[in-house]
Amino acid sequence: MGRPLVADIDLDALRHNYRLARDLAPSSQALAVIKADAYGHGAVACAHALNDLAPAFAVACIEEAESLRRGGIDKPIVLLEGIFSRDELPRVEELGLWLSVHSEWQVEALLAFRPRAPIPTWIKVDSGMHRLGFAPEHLPSVWHRLQDAPDRVSGLHLMSHFATADLLDDDYFQHQLARINELATSLDAPTCLANSPATLAWPRAHGAWNRPGVMLYGSNPLEGGNDASRKLKPVMTLRSEIIAIRDIEAGEPVGYGGRWKAPRRSRIGVVAAGYGDGYDRHAIDGTPVLVEGQRTCLVGKVSMDMLTVDLTDLPQAGIGSRVVLWGQDRDGEILSIDEVASYCDTISYTLLTGILPRVPRHYH
Ligand code: PLP
Repeated sequence: MGRPLVADIDLDALRHNYRLARDLAPSSQALAVIKADAYGHGAVACAHALNDLAPAFAVACIEEAESLRRGGIDKPIVLLEGIFSRDELPRVEELGLWLSVHSEWQVEALLAFRPRAPIPTWIKVDSGMHRLGFAPEHLPSVWHRLQDAPDRVSGLHLMSHFATADLLDDDYFQHQLARINELATSLDAPTCLANSPATLAWPRAHGAWNRPGVMLYGSNPLEGGNDASRKLKPVMTLRSEIIAIRDIEAGEPVGYGGRWKAPRRSRIGVVAAGYGDGYDRHAIDGTPVLVEGQRTCLVGKVSMDMLTVDLTDLPQAGIGSRVVLWGQDRDGEILSIDEVASYCDTISYTLLTGILPRVPRHYH
């Protein structure tokens, strides 16, 4: 019925991965990061699936929080980047959101605002990412100014983000961790630190809160992985079908620009999925796919609505054969999104968030 391309979302796998994050950091509370529409999985559905497990959710902006509230989510929601203009503060209060502040103008706006009840606020510290956050030398004054305004803010925490937690033998990570820990100790401040790689690999970086994102969706962010990351289960399976088959002679090209030329007489399967769905056009020849649970690969450039795969060694495949572009085939075979991403010279985050609305999400 209709175009066969679907993103299946396994909500039990999402819950399994969340529990793993929680169990790896038992002294932390795990803030489920569901920004960017839960990394392309559908934020409202994922929040409902995690609602009885996660004490709070994190998104990038007020629009994402609004859509969660409209979808019936009433748990705390943290705005990871805070407000983008001071006019947003009344809405922050109305929606009952938690704020982060990373810049002086946000602190001033917050201190000038008169909320009915103090707004839970996390102060972002630049411990070395050099993106958002207060420089360590400016932090104490920000901390004390906010601490001295208990009618405006409550629940002050320090939040910091690691640049290199995915590299398992990295000195810079240690440097960031030491810096934030020193600040937290001097101010006697609770922290919110670990992203997915730090949750998986760095127990010393588990603050009062951690912020797992991509691991919730089953992707391994660690270079090489570790025992914990191997327990993750894929949440999204991008699946489609073979919609046409062409037999071609050795030397014949396939697709735009004739990038791939058949090294032998070949059987080419056309799959309903393309860059118009968000499948990465940078995928190279050899990018793995599963057809009827068997590994084969992409040949030729990805088109807008279709891509082509080599079926020469899969004589049992025909029109209607099932194709998994990443995720888990129904016979249990897994094609990891991290492996696919490596053939596209990218990371799982961009593949997941790149799947476009025309691909229906089916929740299980
Ligand atoms: N915290 C912040 C501030 C982030 O920007 C992100 C993601 O980009 C996360 C946590 C989650 O990171 P990850 O998906 O690597 O777990």
